[in-house]
Amino acid sequence: MEARWRSSAKPVQAPKTTKTVSFEEVSGKASSSEALPLSLHLTNAVFFSLFFSVVYFLLSRWREKIRTSTPLHLVNLSEIVAIFAFIASFVYLLGFFGIDFVQSLILRPSTDLWNSEDEEENEALLRKEDARKIPCGQALDCSVTSAPIISAQKVVDEKLVKLTTEEDEEIIKAIVAGTTPSYSLESKLGDCKRAASIRREALGRITGKSLSGLPLDGFDYESILGQCCEMPIGYVQIPVGIAWPLLLNGKEYSVPMATTEGCLVASTNRGCKAIHLSGGASSVLLKDGMTRAPVVRFGTAKRAADLKFYLEDPENFETLAVVFNRSSRFARLQGIKCVIAGKNLYLRFTCSTGDAMGMNMVSKGVQNVLDFLQTDFPDMDVIGISGNFCSDKMPAAVNWIEGRGKSVVCEAIIKGDVVRKVLKTSVESLVELNMLKNLTGSAMAGALGGFNAHASNIVSAVYIATGQDPAQNIESSHCITMMEAVNEGNDLHISVTMPSIEVGTVGGGTQLASQSACLNLLGVKGASQESPGANSRRLATIVAGAVLAGELSLMSALAAGQLVKSHMKYNRLSKDVSKTSS
Ligand code: ADP
Repeated sequence: MEARWRSSAKPVQAPKTTKTVSFEEVSGKASSSEALPLSLHLTNAVFFSLFFSVVYFLLSRWREKIRTSTPLHLVNLSEIVAIFAFIASFVYLLGFFGIDFVQSLILRPSTDLWNSEDEEENEALLRKEDARKIPCGQALDCSVTSAPIISAQKVVDEKLVKLTTEEDEEIIKAIVAGTTPSYSLESKLGDCKRAASIRREALGRITGKSLSGLPLDGFDYESILGQCCEMPIGYVQIPVGIAWPLLLNGKEYSVPMATTEGCLVASTNRGCKAIHLSGGASSVLLKDGMTRAPVVRFGTAKRAADLKFYLEDPENFETLAVVFNRSSRFARLQGIKCVIAGKNLYLRFTCSTGDAMGMNMVSKGVQNVLDFLQTDFPDMDVIGISGNFCSDKMPAAVNWIEGRGKSVVCEAIIKGDVVRKVLKTSVESLVELNMLKNLTGSAMAGALGGFNAHASNIVSAVYIATGQDPAQNIESSHCITMMEAVNEGNDLHISVTMPSIEVGTVGGGTQLASQSACLNLLGVKGASQESPGANSRRLATIVAGAVLAGELSLMSALAAGQLVKSHMKYNRLSKDVSKTSS
């Protein structure tokens, strides 16, 4: 069957053969309820009433006969009619509500399948088993095509369903039955779009949930294969807004922000305007090095210390750098910082990674060094290539203090006039609020890198738009915002210091069409032709510049007491949420 799917992968393009048809065409038969002159609900009501009335009538007659010692088999005409009505209504109700239950018993997978050694296959089965636990009533409302009569209810609601080709139908059934793992579709079919479409249809049948709001078409599924996302079933749409012009280091940038938070783009845009009218912002890149810290274990703390001294000896660095740098022509080892916990040693390698964010690159280099060290330290037990001292995707003081990725400081002097006219507040209020909120308030909260108003809002929106890893928003948003009155108290000096901006312009999600377009808009798409790393470094400064604009605007809104008012204006715009919640 596998060979047949693959051989016909190209000719059998699902979209070409897909057409919209009625339910009768799909199932090959009409449901009995549709033949009735009454609506489905009314028919059900009639049969329900009939069933309970005749049951009541027959039971009372039965009781009467027992009391008068009349033989039970002697029945009069009204009782005969009642028995027929009982049978008819029972058959109807069983047919309508009982078929799914009976089918679910018959179609339950054999327990042999649970003995599969393949973990992922078992996971697929688990999901299927979970789907079966959907209560009947729920299935009645939501199922797509698993039970004909339930589908009839769906057809009444949706009128039309999509027909897949016979071959696709066969594959969908195999996935639903758990005999084909869904993750293998891409390799079996050789057609990523078709694989996604089939997986999606199977998922709909298994879960009984509609995926109608999640688009399938309009996305290049080949581009994510083996790189960005496994087992795709569609894609989520996120609007992209633009904050511009951000005048940074004498250049204007249009900053794309992917977000669903009303006000965010408008607010950042206002910050950009204030910066522009004040002559622009400037930023400096302080450091550029991605880190990875494996954890290794020895028999004694002394042996762990031996390795620490070896790694930190400048005489050994050159050799280690040569070994490390073999991982890529862009990877260049900068240093190794070691910490000990008992017999365990954490080795934090830092290296430059060109225009890539660099996690893969640094990991490969670290692996090279670990392999090399094994000769001189055969008793070294490598516990994990990442020992969390890196520290990736979690708040950690090591990133805040040492930096990770790009460390950037960005500043601007905002004219007093602009503070009053554009930001609708005063220099004095901003300085006071910054001291009490971003510095003292965050200190009271025990913040780690969170000495800012909302850096992560801007970082996440720019990261999603430009194909960065959104999970790295955690350390990338570490930021301290400083404000000070300058020029005899007339103007405002504002700065953001961000030690761990982790961005790249090659690799990961940056190569996808939409994300790549956003990078192109910023003039930092792909690998820099001038000097490797120039694009990713510039992107980091743009992120810091956008954060500066966002901080300036939100802090001004807070100082002027406008926050709630503007959120009401942009987030609740003439929408009655209750009307869209169904
Ligand atoms: P990451 O290390 O961020 O996870 P990838 O390993 O996915 O990134 O992508 C980096 C790849 O891009 C490497 O194979 C590298 O050789 C290649 N590459 C091409 N040009 C550059 C460049 N200017 N800077 C960094 N990497 C580059």
